[in-house]
Amino acid sequence: MVRVISVDAYRQTVTELLGRAPAISVPVAEAAGLVAARDVFADVALPPFDNSAMDGYAVRAADVADAPVTLPVADDIPAGRIDVQPLKPGTAQRIMTGAPLPPGADAVVMVEDTDRGMTEVRISRAAPEGNHIRRIGEDVTKGALALHEGTVLSHSHLGLAAAVGLASLEVYRPLSVLVVSTGTELVEAPNPLQHGQIYESNSVMLAAALRGLGCQVEVVRSVVDDVAEFRRLIEPRLASVDLLLTSGGVSAGAYEVVKDALSGQGVEFQKIAMQPGGPQGCGRWNGVPVVTLPGNPVSVLVSFEAFLRPAVLAAMGHVDVDRQRVRARLTEDMTSPAGRRQYRRGFFTPVLGEVTGMVGPRGGPGSHLLAAFTQANCLIVLPEEVAEVAEGDEVDVLLL
Ligand code: AMP
Ligand code: MG
Repeated sequence: MVRVISVDAYRQTVTELLGRAPAISVPVAEAAGLVAARDVFADVALPPFDNSAMDGYAVRAADVADAPVTLPVADDIPAGRIDVQPLKPGTAQRIMTGAPLPPGADAVVMVEDTDRGMTEVRISRAAPEGNHIRRIGEDVTKGALALHEGTVLSHSHLGLAAAVGLASLEVYRPLSVLVVSTGTELVEAPNPLQHGQIYESNSVMLAAALRGLGCQVEVVRSVVDDVAEFRRLIEPRLASVDLLLTSGGVSAGAYEVVKDALSGQGVEFQKIAMQPGGPQGCGRWNGVPVVTLPGNPVSVLVSFEAFLRPAVLAAMGHVDVDRQRVRARLTEDMTSPAGRRQYRRGFFTPVLGEVTGMVGPRGGPGSHLLAAFTQANCLIVLPEEVAEVAEGDEVDVLLL
């Protein structure tokens, strides 16, 4: 007897199957999109020293209070100078943006308020104490928390890590996934198609979608519907991956290669209360997590959204694994199979001044309608208990 289980329960099962990847250390520049596996504390303050925010002259505010005044220029401080001398009262030092403030100076006069003199400088405007000075630790104090565990590292986070002197970051290791398409009918372009054959597309979509989440992906593009051949090609590759992800060969017909090869090997085949994407399997083969998707391209894409994407994100340390969910008013009537959660491809348009927007379907419910998916920007979610919805009804929409 095939078990029917809910989408939510299955998502939980797949999430637990994938678990949590271990932490590894990667060069800062290679950590974009990955998740910090540790809190990061700043070893240096930012800025690391008091410095000038302007090109101009370092002075004592008291010496320029009665501007216009003329002061001798005692020194010249470009950015990067490490031997700055104290500022003597009654003098100025020419200073560039980012250069260390000389001890004793408490203000910077910007160059535009001077005659740009090199031996002596005429200052036309008074500068209050602290003028154009960037203080040590103003941005980050030494020892402060700079990045917290669970942060999805964007380019700005990497910049901060680099700025506080880190060469590498601890992150959750990207999952390595082996993507396998099955089906004797599958042909790889540019080979010509014979009548009865189709071009293989699932592995292209899955590899791109997984790489988009930060995974490392290997692909076996098309395995014929032969159990011995499937085992011969795939089993030796299991040892080097975190997840085997197959498409095709899990339904109720004959020649279901994945089901035939993996039943009784630790993988359980179930029916999920969803449309499309009902027939699914997951478990472990030789100890390695396996998720087996049905073959129809739209089933693959909906399966990815419904449970694979959140499980893979969670495994790589993401806390926020859900697509944004909004309410929207339907622009036309729709039906949905009772007892199953239907994911229909839709197009959502926000309505100005309203919390919700409008949504209409793109293409019918058929799980082979790939082109319609490319015209969608959301999935319309029709719950298990709903069989009919009418124009004007509010529905849940997942923004893609
Ligand atoms: P299956 O789940 O193997 O019964 O396949 C269901 C449908 O999806 C069939 O029409 C297959 O030809 C099609 N299909 C399976 N795998 C792929 C693939 N990798 N690329 C494109 N279509 C596929
Ligand atoms: Mg097949």
